[in-house]
Amino acid sequence: MADIAEGLLFKDPEEEGIPVACPYCGGRVKYAGLGEYECEKCGRISYDNYGKVRNFLENHPGATINQVMAGTGVSKASIKQLIADDRIQRRPYVKGTDDDDII
Ligand SMILES: [Zn+2]
Repeated sequence: MADIAEGLLFKDPEEEGIPVACPYCGGRVKYAGLGEYECEKCGRISYDNYGKVRNFLENHPGATINQVMAGTGVSKASIKQLIADDRIQRRPYVKGTDDDDII
């Protein structure tokens, strides 16, 4: 397992919401795959934007962009970027206004 997230090498860590330290204890975190980062000190998991959105959608399938924003704190621009990058799959049909689209 690489320390640095594959595919994220050329992205801005701040823009990606990548945790620089454990939010619980301040320890160093290492990439654990699928947007998850494990603390080397306390072992707790923190998430980047992808991990947060992915996690939320696992528990809330069919959520809208607005619901994902409210549930994760990830910005609309970041969510749309994840969709544009095909990291988050959007359902084939579109309903309502843009922000009410189901992911
Ligand atoms: Zn920790």
